[in-house]
Amino acid sequence: MNHCRIRLTLAPELRLFAAADRRAERTPVATDGSSSLGHVVESFGVPLTEVGALLVDGRRVPVSYVPGADEEVEVRAVTRPQEVPGAPLRFLLDVHLGTLARRLRLLGVDAAYESEDLGDPALAALSAAERRVLLSRDRGLLRRREIWAGAYVYSDRPDEQLRDVLGRFAPRLAPWSRCTACNGPLRDADKQSVGDRLEHGTRSTYDVFAQCTECERVYWRGAHHERLEAIVNEALREFGTPATAL
Ligand SMILES: [Zn+2]
Repeated sequence: MNHCRIRLTLAPELRLFAAADRRAERTPVATDGSSSLGHVVESFGVPLTEVGALLVDGRRVPVSYVPGADEEVEVRAVTRPQEVPGAPLRFLLDVHLGTLARRLRLLGVDAAYESEDLGDPALAALSAAERRVLLSRDRGLLRRREIWAGAYVYSDRPDEQLRDVLGRFAPRLAPWSRCTACNGPLRDADKQSVGDRLEHGTRSTYDVFAQCTECERVYWRGAHHERLEAIVNEALREFGTPATAL
């Protein structure tokens, strides 16, 4: 093996992934002369899902590039909003992101989620099979080669997670069009057709109903509506205009 030294600079947004002594500009790295740049970047703890352009001595190179002696590497973060070519934009969330999944659905964003832990191989396979962007805070999961596309979720707070995902991917927002329980599309429903699914108080107080086309759950302007409306209005103010409204 031909050992060689390169210098590597991570974009400021990516430095949180690296050990403290590898966050400086132009950090010296010893490589074996045969590892790809993608491998070197991963050895810093940075998931490749978070990496945008890779520059070597100012030239753009692919992750498969093998850096040579004395080269200067610059690792940039993904640009926002990030394009995900090849399929309609939709997501798959890991077991720890249930609140984020429900908020995305509230905004009409296609967000698959199972409250039962499927395990990393099954999640990665599902991402590939359904071409869904896998959202996770687990770097090990995001390193799996079989995932279709992925993104690290930077915060552990649901409100910041939502802003992170909306700002990063700019999905089309269609509030009140998707079931927050199962991700199925909602359709308008009248009181007669859903009446037997409602308690008497709800039936006599509310008029506007929608029903999930998959799990048949019924939605109405109920007790939690103000809180949900605040989430919707804040997201619309910052990230888009509504396509439909209930
Ligand atoms: Zn449903």
